[in-house]
Amino acid sequence: IIDIRGLHKSFGSFEVLKGIDLSVQQGEVVCIIGPSGSGKSTLIRTINGLTPVNAGEIFIEGQLITGPKFDKLALRRKVGMVFQQYNLFPHRTVLDNVMMAPRLVLKEPKSEVRERARALLAKVRLGDKENHYPGELSGGQQQRVAIARSLCMRPDMMLFDEVTAALDPETVKEVLTTIKELAADGMTCVLVTHEMGFAREIADRVIFTDAGRIVEAGPPAQIFGDPQDARTREFLSQVL
Ligand code: ATP
Ligand code: MG
Repeated sequence: IIDIRGLHKSFGSFEVLKGIDLSVQQGEVVCIIGPSGSGKSTLIRTINGLTPVNAGEIFIEGQLITGPKFDKLALRRKVGMVFQQYNLFPHRTVLDNVMMAPRLVLKEPKSEVRERARALLAKVRLGDKENHYPGELSGGQQQRVAIARSLCMRPDMMLFDEVTAALDPETVKEVLTTIKELAADGMTCVLVTHEMGFAREIADRVIFTDAGRIVEAGPPAQIFGDPQDARTREFLSQVL
């Protein structure tokens, strides 16, 4: 469903991604781990077209998105993304926040979107908060609203970039549970995470990146239990 070939990305003279090859299958859950500055965020931002690339190709559902002409809007519809900062609109209710993109971008009818938004809020266990404002919610609850908001566009796959990094430890778990349920429902997920226990539990495949390259990839039992590369071992010894 995602096919990345020979991806290079530089900011000025600084090469952040130095040839990334990565394929993700439908329904697969892939966790990307690695040191700060290794290019994890840059990599997943290229997947939904937020960051233009210098060389290489990215295919989403067989369609080349790194060429000169591709429909950014169609891409954003297919690929949902949630960030560390949830960026909800503070003066809109939770329900309005979730409904906004399908209403404004897809111009879908209000009643239809409202029904879907309510179902998603129930799914992330915030059914009773639809009329609240973001400021009245905990960080974990706001992040779950952000996940529901992204899902309301009915994406085919979801990208998560350290979505629990800014949260209090108590609320991290509820967000991870939401993601786990989404993965169990068969959603294709690519996650950048510092939660190694979570990666181990949820991932079909773990990708270790360092200095713009994929150093090692494999099932969690292998990466965490029997890492082959010295850099992976060193990183894990620092974070585990
Ligand atoms: P972290 O774990 O800290 O989030 P990361 O692996 O996500 O790190 P990236 O955010 O992808 O790393 O950044 C990789 C490198 O690219 C960093 O050195 C960063 O300073 C640089 N970089 C990222 N975005 C830009 C930008 N817009 N302009 C210039 N340099 C950038
Ligand atoms: Mg990052």
